[in-house]
Amino acid sequence: MEKINVAEIFGENVFNDETMRERLPKKTYQKLKETIREGRDLDATTADVVAHEMKEWAIEKGATHYTHWFQPLTGVTAEKHDSFISAPMKNGKVLMSFSGKELIKGEPDASSFPSGGLRATFEARGYTAWDATSPAFVRQDAAGATLCIPTAFCSFTGEALDQKTPLLRSMEAINTQALRLVRLFGNNTSTRVTPSVGVEQEYFLIDRKDFLARKDLVYTGRTLIGAMPPKGQEMDDHYFGAIRERIASFMKDVNIELWKLGVTSKTQHNEVAPAQHELAPIYEEANVAVDHNQLIMETLKKVAYRHDLQCLLHEKPFAGVNGSGKHDNWSLVTDDGINLLDPGVTPHDNIQFLLVLCCVLKAVDEHAELLRESAADYGNDHRLGGDEAPPCIISVFLGEQLQDVLTQLISTGTATHSIEGQKLDTGVKSLPDFMKDATDRNRTSPFAFTGNKFEFRMVGSEDSVGEPNIVLNTIVAEAFSDVCDELEKAEDFEVAVHDMIKRLAKDHQRIVFNGNGYSPEWVEEAEKRGLLNITNMVDAIPALISEKSVKLFEKFGVFTRTELESRAEIEYEIYAKKSNIEAKTMRDIIRKQIIPSVIGYTTDLANSINAVRAAVDADVSTQSEMLIEVSDLLSDTRVALAKLEDETEKANSHKDQKERAVYFRDHVVPAMAALRTPVDRLEMLVDKSSWPMPSYGDMIFEV
Ligand code: ADP
Ligand code: MG
Repeated sequence: MEKINVAEIFGENVFNDETMRERLPKKTYQKLKETIREGRDLDATTADVVAHEMKEWAIEKGATHYTHWFQPLTGVTAEKHDSFISAPMKNGKVLMSFSGKELIKGEPDASSFPSGGLRATFEARGYTAWDATSPAFVRQDAAGATLCIPTAFCSFTGEALDQKTPLLRSMEAINTQALRLVRLFGNNTSTRVTPSVGVEQEYFLIDRKDFLARKDLVYTGRTLIGAMPPKGQEMDDHYFGAIRERIASFMKDVNIELWKLGVTSKTQHNEVAPAQHELAPIYEEANVAVDHNQLIMETLKKVAYRHDLQCLLHEKPFAGVNGSGKHDNWSLVTDDGINLLDPGVTPHDNIQFLLVLCCVLKAVDEHAELLRESAADYGNDHRLGGDEAPPCIISVFLGEQLQDVLTQLISTGTATHSIEGQKLDTGVKSLPDFMKDATDRNRTSPFAFTGNKFEFRMVGSEDSVGEPNIVLNTIVAEAFSDVCDELEKAEDFEVAVHDMIKRLAKDHQRIVFNGNGYSPEWVEEAEKRGLLNITNMVDAIPALISEKSVKLFEKFGVFTRTELESRAEIEYEIYAKKSNIEAKTMRDIIRKQIIPSVIGYTTDLANSINAVRAAVDADVSTQSEMLIEVSDLLSDTRVALAKLEDETEKANSHKDQKERAVYFRDHVVPAMAALRTPVDRLEMLVDKSSWPMPSYGDMIFEV
């Protein structure tokens, strides 16, 4: 067995702090660190030196090209590769060059990235700018090695066309406001507060040959038809089950790739559904975590390919089976290591923590629709509110201990004690007694306090975690700002902060829900509390451009109104496009594969009935009934298909993006569901050898 030395390979392909210190002249290194710390522009001389060393280092790693690696609003990353080659010299040889200018600024032809009207195609200029806070890395694969420079992407006029620019802006906003808050509590030593983010990524793995045999997976990432296998996930035997060797070998390679890229791939296990798995790295600064999540998704797909597997990142590849999400774990940490969300052992007397906690409650309650929007994507519409997935209603889980502290505060005005963890008695003498946590977990909440962080579980597996973190940072920054405005003026801080916590807890207690979020009772209860239940992406989008949101984002310099309007426009467009692709794929599959196969099957059946009749005087009623049932379903299929085709055409006749999206949601999506019903029933009746594609059972139980 090949031995892996994790410590040795970790970060070997990253131009990280250690490498920079080693390779850069001392003065350049210090200058660079300073500019990063203070968020200033890099001067030309320093940039040239950094670029040169970065290139030399990358070439040693085998790199021939470099790319500005950025995250346009397509949800995935984009890159344009340039080689290091410069113009040939007189002797016919070439030099490898990379200037400071090339490091700092790129200019991809940006006309084909979504801009929501921000940039007309005739003004296609877009710029990428180095985000020096996220380290450059070399990616090695079959295509060779490439130096990747994480960048932000904006238009000629400076509007953000990506996830990173507003994320960095929101990190600034929360830094400023959180520092105000900690200063009130006498902390004069911390100089920076950064959101820490750890992203758990769920995914499915299936055999690549099955994937290729399913055009729906190829074109849309999910199955559009497919009957349930006799066994689903009801036995819960996959969850945390032993990892099969083929999968384990895949995971090993994923880990090695990620470790080389400095991604701390830490946890891996099987998930609830058969063929479903999860990977989680250790948390880090939000912008790096967002970049690393993109690398994780890319790596999962790439390595799967090498193992003849296909990684499905879609939120709901299989109807009726658990979908995939991405848990966004979020906390706020100072540069000297204080986690503002750490309650300590006795949360009731940790006033700063209680204030921060209540600010989060206020933020989530006041901007629930924005948080919901940040997790909205087309695929997630199929997951949220379904099997083992959070509901579409935003609420916060606090757990018994914190709930008790808040209840004390609200009812008596002071909190005097905290429920303590109890000894866990297993009843087995040979097992050690250990203290259990004061609070159990609740897996059904979309936004749960889990010890010293919040876990936002609504995000879809395929989506970027950029937007959820932009929203979280900004809404909490606003809550901090509001309370600081008041507390900074208070004559008696102790009294004022106490009253403030009590007031916030009371005003926002409706957002707290510690019960079962998967239950239908919660939907009713939430409605009584006036909480929103936004069930689909199209209904979520308007939250982006409400006056309240525009005011919020403009106040903290995260988005301008124009940027928000363009983002809303892009989202409507994406919804309609994805739905259109699904409808067209479904039509193709049904017309070209399903109907012909079923006709073949019925013809054979009819022939065999005649043959039996001709040979003997036997009862052929079973065959005849089958023939009638299958023929009837085939006819239902044809009718439903005609309806889908008709509705898709009507949907596409809408020019306005929003109207188009609404029409797709109200008419095309239901028409696809209606078409699926007879087809799935046919799959249960027709001879397996006549069915033109792998079944759910083939795909998820036979990897
Ligand atoms: P779970 O119990 O939900 O599986 P884990 O402890 O495995 O939680 O952590 C899940 C993710 O949360 C990991 O990426 C982990 O690094 C991250 N995480 C842990 N603590 C924090 C924190 N204080 N802030 C942000 N993320 C955190
Ligand atoms: Mg988790």
